[in-house]
Amino acid sequence: TSVFKEGLQKTRTALVEKVEELILRRKKIDEDFYEELEEILIGADVGVTTVMKLIEELRAEVKKRKIEDAAELQPILSEKLVELLNGSENPGLNMAESGMTVILFVGVNGVGKTTTIGKLAHRFKSEGKKVMLAAGDTFRAGAIEQLEVWGQRVGVDVIKQQAGSDPAAVMYDAVHAAKQRGVDVLLCDTAGRLQNKSNLMEELNKIFRVIQREVPTAPHEVLLVLDATTGQNALSQARLFGEKSGVTGLVLTKLDGTAKGGIVIAIRNELNLPVKFVGLGEKMGDLQEFDSEQFVHALFA
Ligand code: GDP
Repeated sequence: TSVFKEGLQKTRTALVEKVEELILRRKKIDEDFYEELEEILIGADVGVTTVMKLIEELRAEVKKRKIEDAAELQPILSEKLVELLNGSENPGLNMAESGMTVILFVGVNGVGKTTTIGKLAHRFKSEGKKVMLAAGDTFRAGAIEQLEVWGQRVGVDVIKQQAGSDPAAVMYDAVHAAKQRGVDVLLCDTAGRLQNKSNLMEELNKIFRVIQREVPTAPHEVLLVLDATTGQNALSQARLFGEKSGVTGLVLTKLDGTAKGGIVIAIRNELNLPVKFVGLGEKMGDLQEFDSEQFVHALFA
């Protein structure tokens, strides 16, 4: 919880401290109180739809318990937030029952895709698994180099070709090499650009076919990486492409640097996709499995 708490400091300031200030100042729960609470929640990127639902539930609860004192609202608010996030328990990563697990990563430039791959490689390696990276984002030379830097840092092999080559060809090489070397987890960067949906689908389908020839149950996960600092933008990226392009889960990065942590709540409430991990910093160890209860407790504790 403490890792979460530290990482979520800016969101705490933008959300919880403002709610606390509101409670102290207004003391009574009335229409003005609800209006200001609504503004605070929307300002922390909880998302309009989610905020409306939350306020409605708060009103009902306040009525039911006959509460007038604003001070009594805070525990109810965190209770309601946990409820909103629940039924959305993190199922964890889907791993191959036997043999190699293949995980694909998609996301726009700069969201933290390469960093997330590096962090996950480190995590798997610490668990004693043999890990390999595939530099399938052949669109930018920089992306390949960056992945190599992470490969060296973590101490795992990176399969690559020149920039501009066919991503499916890189995947072909990678899956073969990984099988030969007895790899447990193959983490594949892709140039899965979200700007153009049909290209994304075409590229992913081609990659799926190449991989499935060797590993019929693959890919075991397609993780969409989103930058929490972009707030509502992250939500619309997830909405646009998440549920339709074979994406199986989300990684929300840069929660440490943002006051927009409420976006996690919006995404969980509005989309049918699990948040599997959150990024809480730039270092190897700064990746946490997402846990809704821990998340809310870190905010309100
Ligand atoms: P890519 O273009 O999607 O591969 O993005 P990168 O992995 O290169 O990340 C872009 C920038 O975001 C880099 O400076 C990373 O160090 C930084 N970054 C990635 N994840 C996090 C995170 O969880 N927290 C913070 N503070 N920075 C991050």
